[in-house]
Amino acid sequence: MQTTNIPQQILKKHFGFEQFRPLQEEIIQGILQAKDTLVLMPTGGGKSICFQVPALLLPHLTLVVSPLIALMKDQVDALKANGISAAYLNSSMDEASQYDLLEQIKNERVKLLYVSPEKLLTLIPFFSSQVTISLIAIDEAHCISAWGHDFRPEYTRLKQLKEVWPQVPIIALTATADKITRKDILHQLSLQNPEVFIASFDRPNLSLTVRFGVKKKKKMEEIISFIHARAKESGIIYCLSRKATEEMAADLQAYGISADYYHAGMSAEERSRVQEEFINDKTKVICATIAFGMGIDKSNVRFVIHNSLPKNMEGYYQEIGRAGRDGLPSDTLLYYSLGDVIMLRNFIEESGQKELNLEKLNRMQQYAEAPICRRKILLAYFGETLSDDCHNCDVCKQPKKLFDGTELVQKALSALHRTNQSVGTNMLIDIIRGSHRKEIIESQFHLLKTYGVGKDKSFFEWQQLILQMINLGLLEIAYDESNSLKITDFGNQILYGRQRIQLVQPEITNDFTGKTKTYQKTYTEQDQEELLFEKLRASRRVLAEKENVPAYIIFSDATLKEIVSKKPQSLAEFIHVNGMGEHKVKKYGNTLLKELKSWQKEAYIKVPKADTYKETLALLQQGFSVEEIAETRQIQATTIYSHVAHLYQTKQLASLDSYITTQEIELVKKAKQETGESKQLAPIYLFLKEEVPYHIIRLCLSYLEREEAVELN
Ligand code: ADP
Ligand code: ZN
Repeated sequence: MQTTNIPQQILKKHFGFEQFRPLQEEIIQGILQAKDTLVLMPTGGGKSICFQVPALLLPHLTLVVSPLIALMKDQVDALKANGISAAYLNSSMDEASQYDLLEQIKNERVKLLYVSPEKLLTLIPFFSSQVTISLIAIDEAHCISAWGHDFRPEYTRLKQLKEVWPQVPIIALTATADKITRKDILHQLSLQNPEVFIASFDRPNLSLTVRFGVKKKKKMEEIISFIHARAKESGIIYCLSRKATEEMAADLQAYGISADYYHAGMSAEERSRVQEEFINDKTKVICATIAFGMGIDKSNVRFVIHNSLPKNMEGYYQEIGRAGRDGLPSDTLLYYSLGDVIMLRNFIEESGQKELNLEKLNRMQQYAEAPICRRKILLAYFGETLSDDCHNCDVCKQPKKLFDGTELVQKALSALHRTNQSVGTNMLIDIIRGSHRKEIIESQFHLLKTYGVGKDKSFFEWQQLILQMINLGLLEIAYDESNSLKITDFGNQILYGRQRIQLVQPEITNDFTGKTKTYQKTYTEQDQEELLFEKLRASRRVLAEKENVPAYIIFSDATLKEIVSKKPQSLAEFIHVNGMGEHKVKKYGNTLLKELKSWQKEAYIKVPKADTYKETLALLQQGFSVEEIAETRQIQATTIYSHVAHLYQTKQLASLDSYITTQEIELVKKAKQETGESKQLAPIYLFLKEEVPYHIIRLCLSYLEREEAVELN
């Protein structure tokens, strides 16, 4: 038997994907060469494949460290659904089953083991003495850093891994890590000459909308109509307080919306019930504090609403990132008021790391008030530059007035440059505006050549402009250097006149965008396809219930959508659908095929009456047999055969090979000559001693007729 050893083949065979996403293949190749690796990829970017594919190619066990029990189970279920031997180990497990599992691991019957950090640390003696480890993957690696927003002290003990297994490659993965956190991960895990991969954080399928200062009652109305416009879809509404989640859920229920709430004040059982029902599509909308979502891998969340301003961009990005993990268009909506800011500031004042958190809140506020493409700002925050506007945010949909801001930018950046990039926003503005503040004189900034070059603009105007420069990725704030401003590479391009730049006259929009446009098709076609999608969704639910896993583990919505658009007619064709690996095609292919066929029959009946020949042709092209067409159309099969004959003669059908043999053609040709008959079938039928069926004779006659026509020409 031929063994599959190329990453690409593993991807297709086990996961059903045709192609790697950007960076996945490079990352995998590096790991196969035993390189330590850090991967930064947005939620939904496809991090798991980066260690799952190598795990299948490497000879021994891959350990996957993951902080969340629910997530572990989900990932293991997903792997098992693809026929891969995976397991998880955490403190919720009883002694006996843990013992069994460790036996299996010793015997190398498990390829991937998901394990919590605590558990791994206590089991180091076992793993280092009894098991050979090929690879260690550390998921949610930002948890190791106190700079990150989700610090978990137990993660810091993962330092030991490199000491215990100096030769085993480590791949650390995270969806959120700014530069400081990144440095911290590399350092704390002692990664050796690590390769660092930073994928684009762009999620173009997520629409971004911010609504400023909407009053409570109006906001509720907006949210309800927003949800009603997405009746069959599920989503999450993030609220600031526990009480707010409960009120929101009650309000939605009052409007007949299937909604529930989730927060850290509920019992563990209650929380897992709410989560399960959401995952299994029983509850459409969850109103939650940010406690919700970490353990959720549900790929078909279609919208995320923030009822109030999040406390930082990392959190916001991660929360909206829970929508549209399957890559299909999804909407995000953020409500923001100054009241939110005041409340958040008060929280922060009472907490640790006050300065850092206040600065992060400022950036969040700046995003919410931004006058330029929001996606540009979001990406600039993560150190990425988007060259074109996204056309999928509220600002892009309502463009602003632009002007050439190159000189203004040069004034600001050269002033900053002359301070050795040592000052923050306010000080910089004071220098540009020629302020006589004590600190300026003390630092001798009043002697700089650029002192006072921007007197003609007010402090407020400069604030707006600098904000834009940060948002456009010309400037960065260094949180670890007292929030001083730094000029980026892109900023230098403008400063040294290599490129010009447009700025915007600031203005706050108050426009509310509705549903993302769906694809353009005729009404009936789209209708029918929606029906098919629903059918497939229902049959997925049945499969999921039978196997006791969430529906998206069986197939993602993206896979179902692809089935709807490709309409595979055989198991072989199913192989070309993304997300259908060999295991799933074998296991579910026939069920899906049946759904498709039955839909085609139903859908067919609803198609308005058209040319009868054309209808037969369309069905033939969809892979129906003549008998099936006859049954579907409630017409005699002989009539359908006469359609086939007509279609062939009029050259709408290229060949009759699948209906008649050359031998039959020869027989009919002879009978035709002998009887002198070219229209009536009965004499030929009798001449051939009733051995050749009528419909074959008819087809042979039309074959001969077309052949004669060719000869005549
Ligand atoms: P992350 O862990 O980065 O949030 P996942 O690993 O869960 O993301 O992947 C997100 C989704 O993308 C999953 O549904 C996964 O099956 C899908 N996916 C990953 N890689 C590919 C690929 N190469 N082609 C198609 N889909 C992919
Ligand atoms: Zn935009």
